[in-house]
Amino acid sequence: MEKIIGYCGVDSGQILLIDPCYVWDDRFDPDGSPSGGDYDTACRITLSDAQAGEVAGGVVTSTAYGDGAYPVTAEYGSDGRILRVTIDFDPEPEEETCWFCGETARWCDGDCQDEDEDEE
Ligand SMILES: [Zn+2]
Repeated sequence: MEKIIGYCGVDSGQILLIDPCYVWDDRFDPDGSPSGGDYDTACRITLSDAQAGEVAGGVVTSTAYGDGAYPVTAEYGSDGRILRVTIDFDPEPEEETCWFCGETARWCDGDCQDEDEDEE
């Protein structure tokens, strides 16, 4: 089974995958010299040609299109354990659905609303 477990908010064009007990606080100045801190190191990795790499205790990656809220999907095994997690940096835009018939705007031309009125 797969389901979206949440959305990762991104405000620096990158995502860190790490054990939360290793979460850090640091500063990054793109015009300054490297602070040697973990956040600075992560930024320099995601701005490199590889766009991703290993940092202290985890992995950092840039996102495809910068900032946003990216859906995270978990794949559950038959025993209920999470086997894989996927962050989609290029998700399909959510389509608006018709309030009356539940079809997406692509398929509903608005006739469903007329039908409801005729039945009453
Ligand atoms: Zn409709």
